[in-house]
Amino acid sequence: MSVRVRFAPSPTGPLHIGGVRTALFNYLFAKKHGGTFYLRIEDTDQTRFVPGAEAYIFEALEWLGIAPEETVGKNEKFGPYRQSERKAMYQQYADQLINSGWAYYAFDTAESLDAMRKEAEANGKTFIYNHSVREQLDNSLTVSREKVAERIANGEHYVIRFKTPVNEILELKDIIRGDIKFDTNLLDDKVLFKSDGMPTYHLANIVDDHLMETSHVIRGEEWLPSMPLHVLLYKAFGWNAPEFAHLPLILKPIGNGKLSKRDGDKMGFPVFPLEWKTEEGTSSGYRENGFFPEAVINFLALLGWNDGTEKEIFSLEELVEKFDLNRIHKAGAKFDPEKNKWFNHQYLQKQSDASLAESFKTILDKKGISTSLDLTKIVGMIKERAHFVNEFWDLADYFFEAPTSYDEKAAKNWKEETPGLMQQVISELNKIEDFKSVNIETLLKEWMTTNEIGMGKVMQPLRLSLVGALKGPHLFDIIEMIGKAETVKRIEKAIASL
Ligand code: GLU
Repeated sequence: MSVRVRFAPSPTGPLHIGGVRTALFNYLFAKKHGGTFYLRIEDTDQTRFVPGAEAYIFEALEWLGIAPEETVGKNEKFGPYRQSERKAMYQQYADQLINSGWAYYAFDTAESLDAMRKEAEANGKTFIYNHSVREQLDNSLTVSREKVAERIANGEHYVIRFKTPVNEILELKDIIRGDIKFDTNLLDDKVLFKSDGMPTYHLANIVDDHLMETSHVIRGEEWLPSMPLHVLLYKAFGWNAPEFAHLPLILKPIGNGKLSKRDGDKMGFPVFPLEWKTEEGTSSGYRENGFFPEAVINFLALLGWNDGTEKEIFSLEELVEKFDLNRIHKAGAKFDPEKNKWFNHQYLQKQSDASLAESFKTILDKKGISTSLDLTKIVGMIKERAHFVNEFWDLADYFFEAPTSYDEKAAKNWKEETPGLMQQVISELNKIEDFKSVNIETLLKEWMTTNEIGMGKVMQPLRLSLVGALKGPHLFDIIEMIGKAETVKRIEKAIASL
């Protein structure tokens, strides 16, 4: 059987990073086995529909380089790929289950169910619509066939519920979790279909996974409790079930529980691939925060998986080659925002200086700074200190603008003899014809040695004069870059103001 896997998001908002990891693992598994990765939009719950969410999902996967091969508007071999457009088809499957005795009509109103729920609660119990009560409730198990037909014909609201078998221990197999047993007596009779003609998630999901020839269901752990129902549904239809793999949760950086949007807001890191704007506010995205898609892919791949070695940096191609569902951990994976930044730093170093210079140029343009300096060279000098391109300005502003203030702590090293020394530096610099870093370094060092001047006495104040603080790359490279005239001007200004 060929591998066909799917990502099946519900368009209820921006795609959480956990959803992106699910998509990624499906993608990797498909590519690894020469199979197909498709995407199905699960939008049967119209009350939770959010405009823009679907487009967001496609854009995010596209940006990350893991777009599906089949989906809405793309190779619709098993289409439509949007469940709302498959609506007409589900009824027959619900009917099939009714006819085979695997499902039944239930007319209980929301109010009566609510009353029973409250009554149970008052007695310290939980109300479950299942084998223990279904023979006493308002459904086709207790009402005659004729009466049921009549009530439906009269337009009474109903749902179709799954008739969960009694007294069975299901022995299920999950690729990640191994063998799992479920007692069917503990399951409720889930709603599969509603009289508005819409299937629920469970029915639509199983029917579509079957019709779209899904070989493996790889999804988040939160769906594990649905697995027994899903396996029973396959059995009820007489279909072969796909294999299942439930991915471990992504956990908060600190404390317990699932990573949430609030953790991101609190600690200042994104949990969404792209920015998402609503009337309530904006949720930040990896893309807008300056993450490289390759870095995002890399750190997500390592949330719950590794290749068995210490290796951390993987290209998408390497991930495809190494990926193995059997190497996914059962335990939840802690989300580490610092590590994410570290990955981005690594990928930033891999970019060519020329392409980084282009991104930097865009930032400078926005600031209204035009320059004739060699940006490629500047980027090469500062990038090892950066996690993001958007840090370049803070790391390199002094190349373009003379300091307007001086770091107070560093200024304490500006001693009485410093102005005199700086004057001498100026005269030394003026001697240099070929104003290159090595020449400047050789000359100034010679001058210091000959005159027995301590390095620190010159180098620190000089850096302070040019940069405004004791930061930045090799000082002589900075001097070469800004040029003789600008260097002299800055030293004179420092002498005047410090
Ligand atoms: N529509 C479900 C979701 O939003 C899909 C779950 C599954 O993969 O079966 O996650």
